[in-house]
Amino acid sequence: MTSDPTSLDTFASQKLHTLEQRKLRRSPRECTALDAVRVMMDSRELINFCSNDYLGLAHHPQVKEAAARAALDNGAGAGASRLVTGGHARLFALEKRLAAFKGTQDCVIFGSGYMANMAITPALAGPDDIVFIDERAHACLFSGAQLSRATLDVLPHNDTDALADRLDRKRRAYRHALVLVDSVYSMDGDLAPLDVYARISARHEAWLLVDDAHGLGVLGNGRGAAETFTPKPDIPLQMGTLSKALGSYGGYLCASHEVCELMRSRARPLIYTTALPPAVIAAAEEALTLVETDPELCARPLQLARLFAAELGLDEPQSPIVPVILGDAETALAASDKLREDGYLVMAIRPPTVAEGTARLRVTFSAAHSEESVKSLAASLKHIIQD
Ligand SMILES: *Cc1c(COP(=O)(O)O)cnc(C)c1O
Repeated sequence: MTSDPTSLDTFASQKLHTLEQRKLRRSPRECTALDAVRVMMDSRELINFCSNDYLGLAHHPQVKEAAARAALDNGAGAGASRLVTGGHARLFALEKRLAAFKGTQDCVIFGSGYMANMAITPALAGPDDIVFIDERAHACLFSGAQLSRATLDVLPHNDTDALADRLDRKRRAYRHALVLVDSVYSMDGDLAPLDVYARISARHEAWLLVDDAHGLGVLGNGRGAAETFTPKPDIPLQMGTLSKALGSYGGYLCASHEVCELMRSRARPLIYTTALPPAVIAAAEEALTLVETDPELCARPLQLARLFAAELGLDEPQSPIVPVILGDAETALAASDKLREDGYLVMAIRPPTVAEGTARLRVTFSAAHSEESVKSLAASLKHIIQD
């Protein structure tokens, strides 16, 4: 029997049609980076205010040089899983350095932040367990939780009382409990009360997993969001990415030696995938050196975010992510288009990524932006909003 290829295409086009009608169809666009802040899009040069390359390290000469040298010395690809022959010494060395930087016993590196979260929860939880997750947690924390087949309990955003209450009522019925939160929420830029989460989780014997994708390199002298709390909260599962402030690619989990060893033996997205290419590892290593030695560089994105917010009279940001909430999707899209006419690239974020009625511009700041360009972006936006 042969399958009918037209029915596959028919299925795809009907599905796309439905998405189109619901305004959910997405089309990736060509966008070529010229340097840490300038991009070419539709034959126009724009200043990029929506990248997560917070420190401009993806374009730092030393980082690029390290990547190029590693590719020339060690090859373009790793060739196999790290459990076969892909385990380059540099990968082990980078894990040691990240563990030391985050103050944990051990660290394990994954193919990406997304893969790390697809790996961690399923390696720790199963059908007898319960996973509490903040409603605004990143999509990959949800994916990992679903893949684990544990019971899923979605918490109102940053509502630690709700967590305490539900743990009180439900914890006993399950073998293990996990609590999954972002340290910095990617669409709002607000921080989670990590100190309170850590206390409540410890009290109820629940394991806290914090996704610090937007904290590493930009908060707590570059060491991450947890370092902004005194005393530093005890977080047993500290996950993050090499793809944002470190300007490279890959994800990590910093945790105890036992937990990391369990990942090495049980985490499917680690075992059955090819190890990171040498150039990617070398770039992250070099970027980590810059982060470790330059706290002023790490502080700059938040300073620029605060400058921008002050110019527009917005609340003081807690991270380099500043949402400018405009209401309906059309208004947000129109503002994004007008900014592009003025030479700035700022994405409009619409439902269902954010709640209905809270469509917004999501502005992110990089150490590589000049104060002048931040001020002129604010002036341009002020003008657009007032129109
Ligand atoms: C970007 C992001 C990820 C995914 O990391 P990648 O390395 O890009 O796959 C995970 N969690 C959060 C909160 C993120 O913002």
